[in-house]
Amino acid sequence: MAHEAVGSSLVVDEQNNATLHQPTNDATPKINLLGMSRAELEQFFESIGEKKFRAGQVMKWVHQYFVTDFAEMSNISGKLREKLEKVCEVKAPEVVHRNYSKDGTRKWVFRVGEGSGSLVETVLIPADDKTGARKTLCVSSQVGCALDCSFCSTGKQGFQRDLTSDEIIGQLWVANQSYMEDVAVADRTRSVTNVVMMGMGEPLLNFKPVVKAMTLMLDDFAYGMSKRRVTLSTSGIVPMIDKLAEQLDVALAISLHAPNDELRNELVPINKKYPLAQLIASAQRYIKKDGNESARKHVTIEYVMLDGVNDQLEHAHQMVNLLKELPSKINLIPFNPFPHAPYGRSSRNRIMAFQKVLSDAGFVCTIRQTRGDDIDAACGQLVGQVADRTRRAEQWKKKVAQQNEIVRSQG
Ligand code: SAH
Ligand code: SF4
Repeated sequence: MAHEAVGSSLVVDEQNNATLHQPTNDATPKINLLGMSRAELEQFFESIGEKKFRAGQVMKWVHQYFVTDFAEMSNISGKLREKLEKVCEVKAPEVVHRNYSKDGTRKWVFRVGEGSGSLVETVLIPADDKTGARKTLCVSSQVGCALDCSFCSTGKQGFQRDLTSDEIIGQLWVANQSYMEDVAVADRTRSVTNVVMMGMGEPLLNFKPVVKAMTLMLDDFAYGMSKRRVTLSTSGIVPMIDKLAEQLDVALAISLHAPNDELRNELVPINKKYPLAQLIASAQRYIKKDGNESARKHVTIEYVMLDGVNDQLEHAHQMVNLLKELPSKINLIPFNPFPHAPYGRSSRNRIMAFQKVLSDAGFVCTIRQTRGDDIDAACGQLVGQVADRTRRAEQWKKKVAQQNEIVRSQG
């Protein structure tokens, strides 16, 4: 996508992937600044005859003080503010549903297009760790997913489209902003401490917008998060893991779910293209790019526990063998059921026995706590419900329109 800003020579190229919004009383689309990297914003300000440092100023207003109205950006001259209002906007995706659980879990459903299939969700999970209150945000990268893992409700929806960098970083913006609604602008802080790209979609199949949004997460002029607290989770797109290693230093999580190719082909079909040996080798290469300050000391291995499918002790032993050369921490995830899911959740005892095999072999192995049960915080569930409601509302509108048509034709 390429477009030009009115009154400027700026061309936003496909890397920028900015979202265009149609302003209500002006036919000219505005440029959304929300998902622009610092380099792009600097380029933008230069293109309209302004100094580069304006980029950092605007970024701080937007990402640290959650101000979207240029008129409120008090260290920017009135003339420039007017100019910005004409050609730009700062716009997060529309929240169509939000739910705050008693245990502190928060969940948002965003509309990113027309129709019931254009919804994505974001979940915030609080936890107290030794450094204080941790708030982990689970961010989506695509509407739906093409990879069709057999235990995943997002996969069952099929793929709709990639999210833009505005829509990806917009999820973090909305989550942080939700804690600051009643706080004076000068006193605002960022509440989200960790991000995991573990919402809907496969982040490595939407590479450029995801990398751009994650760059903003790390940028001191935006969210300034520690790279160890920003994690990309992938089902194993091997060439893109290598590309990520070159471009970004963040923590990596691999969705393993099976310790042998036969079973993994069934659960995670992308394994047929990139089998386990290739996947483990690429994870090893990712870690080797390690520097002293790197986030890449180890990878996290995610393993969903499916009753009677991948939760036997022999699977745990196979996993010990598979991961013996890979510095890794293992996270066992109790399966989150969804309507018509072909699996059940492994029992607590089964999960603990599985964990013991891995711990005895020297791995750090944790069991993910299930949170937010009162708001269906499990992956893909709320979108399913909201989509059902939206579909019902659409069908109802159609029915009313048809009836009106009949009444009109009869009259
Ligand atoms: N596509 C990426 C990131 C999104 S999925 C990936 O697969 O890694 C994020 C995590 O949620 C993955 O580990 C995925 O396997 C897990 N997940 C998906 N459906 C689940 C379910 N029904 N119950 C528990 N975990 C699930
Ligand atoms: Fe896609 Fe990840 Fe779900 Fe697999 S688990 S279908 S890769 S979102």
